[in-house]
Amino acid sequence: MTIVKLADRVLPQPIVNLLEREGTGISWADLTMNFWIGCQEVSPACDLCYAREFTNARVNAARVAAGKPPIEWGPGGARYQTAEANRKKPLRWNRIAAEADVRLRVFCSSLSDWLTTPSPTSGAPKSRSGSSPRRTSTGCC
Ligand code: SF4
Repeated sequence: MTIVKLADRVLPQPIVNLLEREGTGISWADLTMNFWIGCQEVSPACDLCYAREFTNARVNAARVAAGKPPIEWGPGGARYQTAEANRKKPLRWNRIAAEADVRLRVFCSSLSDWLTTPSPTSGAPKSRSGSSPRRTSTGCC
């Protein structure tokens, strides 16, 4: 698989604006999306989980400072469903990408496991027609 870095692509201005505003520092992705945060920890390999450490160091530190309960990682932990406005972002990204005829790489669940149990799936965005939006983004889960 060949990975084309952002710096090597010539991008239309609306895409540049989007990525400057909301882009990720993860080298192989353009954007990240988390419909919820948290994961089951399914194997010994999870001892080195970056997502858990990032959540504890950054997300939970901010939540605790704001008087909110921390997100619990691991089996039976309380997952945190992200805000509705956040969960709708892929629809806007998809529209911008379609208008620019660019395929964006979206890292879905950078701070969660999309197969976690239980998963708060009620907030997953749907298109108005109920069908899948035009595929102009590549999700990586
Ligand atoms: S995201 Fe979940 S499954 Fe993946 S390494 Fe972390 S705890 Fe393990």
